[in-house]
Amino acid sequence: MGSSSDDEGEEYLFKIVIIGDSAVGKSNLLSRYARNEFNMHSKATIGVEFQTQSLEIDGKEVKAQIWDTAGQERFRAVTSAYYRGAFGALVVYDISRRSTFESIPRWLDELKTHSDTTVAKMLVGNKCDLENIRDVSVEEGKILAESEGLFFMETSALDSTNVKKAFEIVIREIYNNVSRKVL
Ligand code: GDP
Repeated sequence: MGSSSDDEGEEYLFKIVIIGDSAVGKSNLLSRYARNEFNMHSKATIGVEFQTQSLEIDGKEVKAQIWDTAGQERFRAVTSAYYRGAFGALVVYDISRRSTFESIPRWLDELKTHSDTTVAKMLVGNKCDLENIRDVSVEEGKILAESEGLFFMETSALDSTNVKKAFEIVIREIYNNVSRKVL
């Protein structure tokens, strides 16, 4: 991170991480937001990946570099390097699988342990299209988010519900809070 010498074409770049149990839909949330794509089958690829997405705020270009664990969490092997420098986080569970909701406190602890700055956090209940097999109520999500000081939203990477909104709320919050200049 550095600062540009002239004020024209000011740009901001923020790192955002997506965390949560395996198969909650992290990769698909990112591919839906960055490329408007969805995959029914999980990829087997292991390794960290990120996508960069731009948003205009106050006439400035704000770029979010959004990281996906791409399977590392299966081995409980999300490293401190993954979290380093993150200004925002989407902490995701699957509304049709209660165990993934019960893991949220552990993910929040891990985020807290590894983050080196204030992190704008959104609790995301993904797969809200699966209403018929819902296992976690909207109210439970709201209560947890309130008690932990997180934004909250239910999303569907499958039908696009709230995906853009969830990412953009986090990006705007980071911009409002910290806005670090980059070249
Ligand atoms: P990750 O392991 O957390 O990155 O999860 P993936 O993005 O690989 O998704 C795991 C599985 O859930 C895949 O079969 C996806 O097609 C499916 N999935 C992801 N998001 C949604 C969603 O919003 N609705 C439904 N019904 N399925 C989803």
